[in-house]
Amino acid sequence: MKITQIETIQVAEFSRITWVQIHTDAGYTGLGETFFGPRAVAGAIHEIFSPMLIGQDPLDIERHWRDMFDMANAFGYAGAEARAISAIDIALWDIAGQVAGQPIYNLLGGACRDRIPVYNTTASYGGNNDLHLAMTDAGTLAKSLLDDGIEILKWAFTDPFADPYRGLYLNDNDLDLMLEPMRQIRNAVGNDMAIANDGHGRWNLQNAIRIGRAMDQFGMFWQEELIQPTNVQNHVTLAHEIKAPICVSERLISKYQFRDYLREGAAEIVMPDLIWTGGITETKKIATMAEAENAPVAPHDTTGPVNVFACAHICMNAPNAWVMETVRAFYGPGGWYDRFVEPNIVVVDGHLLAPEGPGLGTRLKPDVRDRPDATVEVSDEPATEDHWGGFRSAYEVYTGDDGKRGLRLK
Ligand SMILES: [Mg+2]
Repeated sequence: MKITQIETIQVAEFSRITWVQIHTDAGYTGLGETFFGPRAVAGAIHEIFSPMLIGQDPLDIERHWRDMFDMANAFGYAGAEARAISAIDIALWDIAGQVAGQPIYNLLGGACRDRIPVYNTTASYGGNNDLHLAMTDAGTLAKSLLDDGIEILKWAFTDPFADPYRGLYLNDNDLDLMLEPMRQIRNAVGNDMAIANDGHGRWNLQNAIRIGRAMDQFGMFWQEELIQPTNVQNHVTLAHEIKAPICVSERLISKYQFRDYLREGAAEIVMPDLIWTGGITETKKIATMAEAENAPVAPHDTTGPVNVFACAHICMNAPNAWVMETVRAFYGPGGWYDRFVEPNIVVVDGHLLAPEGPGLGTRLKPDVRDRPDATVEVSDEPATEDHWGGFRSAYEVYTGDDGKRGLRLK
């Protein structure tokens, strides 16, 4: 079986998402996705990676991941290249599952569970008002989520206070006002709702410690990215200074960056973003590294539906998968996921159910690529030898008829 075509699909309505479809000569089509900078992602896919994959066996996923990473990392890997690799990797796993006639989690080693608790990140879409409620009437939001069986809520409660001074200055009145949504939740529903805070990496260490300590009275589910994950030692310090567990981080790319945080005890909860960090191949390895450190894994979302499907397979398989991020405004009634994929994810009583069917368990609706606001790019040419320049040597070792060894041009 050979890869014949790789296409990227973007729509103006969701201008930061890229979908990838990989076609084969056996009639299988694999679906992947990533988020942010779609023109750069499409450039990485069509200029760098597609030529390496066209004509290759899609089932050699580890080889392709390694080839793509090594090619990218000749110049630094953690950008559009990593996002492109992530999307391609998901599509390759989708093909592998379809060929096997099995859901991807069975190819990863089988299921540890058939559902996982979700937490709701309070983004809004359409008529959904969750985001506004989180900032102004969080008790009502908590009751509404509990009505849907969702017992964990996350939002970036500190963002409005960080923006004016880039997280460098925070006065005591603002620090108190910052806690109001937590007070509202506890007053409305007591301890029935777990509260997670996402600092979006907007604070310096000093203020992160102040915020973490102030919120500790509410028994926070976790503190996520109060500071940017650019300094392992700062996270070790933060973990020692506050009670809530430190969650790290959607911004870490590949097992290499997670390794450094895990090794130093700087990641008490591990949150890879599958569509940024390197796809299913890499997230499985990160989850296993976390398992060795007794750290739970909580995959990151708030992007597109394919990510949730891919994460669901990790969540069913990984023994240490804990909770899955989802946004009810996106998947629920009035949301947008079901306009793009079929079937949609299934969340019942606050749990994401295992995808059904072979591969990912969903497809991009055929009419998406025909939308008037869609941009579709297609690659179908294999790499020339020149494409591997700087990555594979043009020379090889040979042994002559006289037994002497030397180097010659390939
Ligand atoms: Mg986050």
